[in-house]
Amino acid sequence: MTLEPKMKLLKHKRTKIIATVGPACADEDSIRQMIHKGVNIFRLNMSHGEHAEHYASYQMIRNIAAECKKHIAVLVDLSGPKIRTGAFKNNQILLVKGDGVTITMRDAEGEPGLIPSQYKKLAHDVSVGQRIFLADGAMELVVEKVENTEVYCRVLQGGILGNHKGINLPDSVVSAPSMTEKDYDDAMFAVGLGVDFLALSFVRHVDDIHLLRAWLEEQGSDISIIAKVERPEALNDAGAIIEAADAIMVARGDLGVELPPEQVPITQDVLIKEARKQCKPVIVATQVLESMIEHAQPTRAETTDIFHSVSSSADAIMLSGETAVGKYPVESVAMMARVIMNAEAYLWHQGAFFFGTVNQPHQSALPFGHAVARSTSLLSRDLMVHGIVVLSESGWTTVTVSAERPEAPILAVTSSEETCRRTNLIWGVIPVLVEAEDMGSHVTLAKKLVKTYSLAKMGDPILLVQGFHRDEAENRPSIMVLKA
Ligand code: PEP
Repeated sequence: MTLEPKMKLLKHKRTKIIATVGPACADEDSIRQMIHKGVNIFRLNMSHGEHAEHYASYQMIRNIAAECKKHIAVLVDLSGPKIRTGAFKNNQILLVKGDGVTITMRDAEGEPGLIPSQYKKLAHDVSVGQRIFLADGAMELVVEKVENTEVYCRVLQGGILGNHKGINLPDSVVSAPSMTEKDYDDAMFAVGLGVDFLALSFVRHVDDIHLLRAWLEEQGSDISIIAKVERPEALNDAGAIIEAADAIMVARGDLGVELPPEQVPITQDVLIKEARKQCKPVIVATQVLESMIEHAQPTRAETTDIFHSVSSSADAIMLSGETAVGKYPVESVAMMARVIMNAEAYLWHQGAFFFGTVNQPHQSALPFGHAVARSTSLLSRDLMVHGIVVLSESGWTTVTVSAERPEAPILAVTSSEETCRRTNLIWGVIPVLVEAEDMGSHVTLAKKLVKTYSLAKMGDPILLVQGFHRDEAENRPSIMVLKA
C-alpha cells in the first residue's frame, strides 16, 4: 500500500464555486479569468456597495458569460436585519475587560463608555445576563441592567471597537422583521435585474421564507430563494426552512459568532445531510480561503476545510472577502478549483461519491423520483457510465438525480435559460441549453450531447433520465440505458 495519493483528475469539477464581487475583481479581465478558473455563480452582496455599482457588475457578468458561452448565475445576497453599532467621535473606542459600557438606542455619537446601536429595539430584545458580541465576536459584553433606551453592560472580552461594526445577540430573540426596508428595496432591484438567486440573511423561521416567496410572487418573480442559516433559532426550524427554500447556505461567519466555535463543524455537517435528504443544494460559506485576502498561498488548514466540504458533499463553496476585497481574487478561485479537483479525484477513485442515501435503511417506499435517482447512481457505477443526460425543464429531475451523487457527470438539458443558469449551482451538473423542439428527440439528443461535451465515445454506456415531477399525478420518472 502506498500512502501517496496519485490519481488522474476528473475532466469536470463537480463542486461549484461561488465568488463574491467587490472592488478587487469588478473589472472585465478579473471576471473573465475567474470564469475560466472555475466560478459558476457570482454573488452581489447588498451589505456593501450601491445599486449603480451592482448594476454595472451584473451587466459585465452577463456579457462576459455570454462571450465565454457559460451559463453563469448571479446571486443577490440581501443584508437582512444585521445589527450594527453607530459611529464614534474618533471613529473607535477602547473596551477594557471588566469596565462598564452602555449601549444606547438614542441617536448619539459614540464615545468611550458609550456605544450607539443602529437597531433601536435592542434594549427591548435583551435581558440581564445575556451576552452581546461585537465585531464578529472579537469582543464580548454581558448585560447587567436595562433601563428604557440604555443597556448597561460589563466588558467580558475587550478590544478596539470601530464604526458600524456588527452586534450579535446569541441569547436573545431578535424582534426585527426578517426583511428590512432596505431588503425590500434591494430585492426589487434584484427582481428588476433578473438575477437567478436571492439569499435571505438571518433566517429565523420557515415563515421568513414564505414571506419572501409571497412577496416575490406578488412581483411576478420566481427567483430561487437561498436561506442563509446563521441564527441559532433557524436550527430549531431547519427541516422546514430547507423544505421551503430552494437551497441553503451555511453562513459560517455569523453562525460562528452566534454558536460556540466547536459547534460550527457539526452544524455544517447536520445541515448538509438534511439538505441532501431533501434534494436541496447546500452552499458552504465564509473564511474558506480567508488568509488569501492578504497572501498568495492559503493555509493548509484552509485547504483541508475545502476537502472536508467536498467530502461531506456540499454542492457549492463560496468565496467572500477573498474575491471581493482580497489581493488575490483570481488566484483564490484557481486555488479553490485545484483543491476541489484533487479532492474529487481522490474520492472518485475510492468510489466515495456514492456514499449517499443508498445504503440507508428506510421504513416505507421512497417517492418514485428518489428511487429512480438512486438507481441512476447505482447504474452509473455498475455500468461505468460515461455521462448521464437529464432532460429537465424545471430543474427538478436534475436536482433529484444529483442528490444521489452519481459517479458520471450530469448533462442537465433544458430549453429554459433561467433553469440552465440555476442548475449551475447543483453538484455534478453541466448545464446545457437546447431549442425547445430538440427536447423531443431524446435519444438522438442524448447521444449527440455526450459526444459534444466529450463525455463519451461511440459505444460507451450512457444514461438518459427524465420525467420527474413534484406533482405525483404527473410524475413519470424513467431511466434509459443507451450506448453513445
Ligand atoms: C456569513 O455570515 O457567513 C455570510 C455569508 O453572510 P455575510 O457575508 O452577509 O455576513
